[in-house]
Amino acid sequence: MENIVQSLRMEREKPFCAYLYDLSKLRHHVNQLMTTLPSACRLFYAIKANSDANLLTTLAPMVHGFEVASLGEIEKVRAVDAKIPILFGGPGKTQEEIEGAIHHGVTLLHVESIHELQLVNHIASQKGTTVSILLRVNLRSSVPNAQLKMAGVPTQFGIDEVEVPNAIALAKSLPNVKLLGFHFHAMSNNGDSKTHVYFVDHCFEMAKTWGKEWNIDISYINVGGGIGINYQDVENQFDWVDFMEGLEKVLEKHNNTNWQTLFECGRYITSSCGYYAAEVLDIKQNHGKSFCVIRGGSHHLRLPAAWKSSHPFTIVPVEKWSYPFARPELNDSVITVAGELCTPNDVLARDISVPRIRVGDILLFSYAGAYGWAISHHDFLSHPHPEHLYIESDSINGSGAKTEDKRLQIKISVV
Ligand SMILES: *Cc1c(COP(=O)(O)O)cnc(C)c1O
Repeated sequence: MENIVQSLRMEREKPFCAYLYDLSKLRHHVNQLMTTLPSACRLFYAIKANSDANLLTTLAPMVHGFEVASLGEIEKVRAVDAKIPILFGGPGKTQEEIEGAIHHGVTLLHVESIHELQLVNHIASQKGTTVSILLRVNLRSSVPNAQLKMAGVPTQFGIDEVEVPNAIALAKSLPNVKLLGFHFHAMSNNGDSKTHVYFVDHCFEMAKTWGKEWNIDISYINVGGGIGINYQDVENQFDWVDFMEGLEKVLEKHNNTNWQTLFECGRYITSSCGYYAAEVLDIKQNHGKSFCVIRGGSHHLRLPAAWKSSHPFTIVPVEKWSYPFARPELNDSVITVAGELCTPNDVLARDISVPRIRVGDILLFSYAGAYGWAISHHDFLSHPHPEHLYIESDSINGSGAKTEDKRLQIKISVV
């Protein structure tokens, strides 16, 4: 990726600022997930992590389907694939969204409240149809170690565990909804495979209890997403192989059920294929600290500012220097990386040791493919957007192509 960034820089006049997506890397990663997943499981991509059309097009033939949380997301999915299964969740669904879900042939609708259950049934009956649903449960017990908790704590998500029996009774009495199981998305950015296994087992136990008590013919148990990325120690990522081993044991333990286990992962699928590259515009000292200011910032990659954490990056050296005065440079220093916005919150990494950094070098942030561009406030201060470049690293690396050929492999789109 470093060489690609260097050659892309040479082709441009202005300071470099781009999102780069390595589609080959995405395919390899997802292929590894799909081929190791037990046969009773289905992997969906939660597109809110990154709904870029090129990524969706790459993923559509690989994953079992997409998970969406709005009518806009349903439309983005249908724009790339007319048939692919869709799961539709999220709080506060409107009448228009539920009608849209029926119109676009959503496979399962995740019902978030008793009121929503009534609304779905009402709309389905007006349209003379039946909607297949899962009840989204907000469990009482929380998930240890996950960064963001959607359940186990009071949140706007799902139906409180203690209310679930009422929701089941109501669902069974309504003629235009078909209750097919439960949905349990309960966390975000969990880095521990053992915790995730424990969570899946707990979901099975809960679903079994309700299934038996209420005589429900369960087809699906959706255990959500929430598999994490370790942004602080990138060499030490979620242990997928260990998770698969643990998952097999959980499925074995519950092999008297005939359910499909659904996963709807966002971050874990697209984070690693995305990079955000931004050129160093200035290096300065203030109150005894060194700051490096980049062409870009949290309006392009808001994740570290949102979490008040540091995002991992490497420094891509750029030799070109075209001014007749000395190039600012720091050696063996500790720097804070700030963006170009007029707010002290525009910081992407704090107090990072670097061997050498110069104005004109490029910072290459990794793991920027999920919750990067998608969650950022692009137009605050009206700086130009980054370029969005799509790379097939396989064809570049494999053929040893020179710059001329490389360019053919890079699709450019303006957002
Ligand atoms: C955001 C979300 C996901 C995906 O979460 P990740 O942490 O990105 O895996 C899955 N399901 C629901 C309901 C969500 O809101």
